[in-house]
Amino acid sequence: MDLDDTSRCPRGDRCATCGGGDGLAVATVATAVGVHCLTLCVGDREAERLPRPASWTQAIELAAAHCTHLGIDVDAMAAAMEQEGGKE
Ligand SMILES: [Zn+2]
Ligand SMILES: [Zn+2]
Repeated sequence: MDLDDTSRCPRGDRCATCGGGDGLAVATVATAVGVHCLTLCVGDREAERLPRPASWTQAIELAAAHCTHLGIDVDAMAAAMEQEGGKE
């Protein structure tokens, strides 16, 4: 299970960090509650300037949305995160 797969994630038309539109692509972010995707410009992607979710509730909602992009449920994401954590 590749939680960083963004092939089915919708790309926004603005960077989530700076609001710019230069070289936008979807990136993934891991938080304590799951992995979610967001749209970043090339500069913020390379510098890893990521906006923090406004709240845990929002982080959970973002992770749940990314689950639907991956075609899995939240339980499968949690299991995959546990596996990844065990490898490191
Ligand atoms: Zn940006
Ligand atoms: Zn996604």
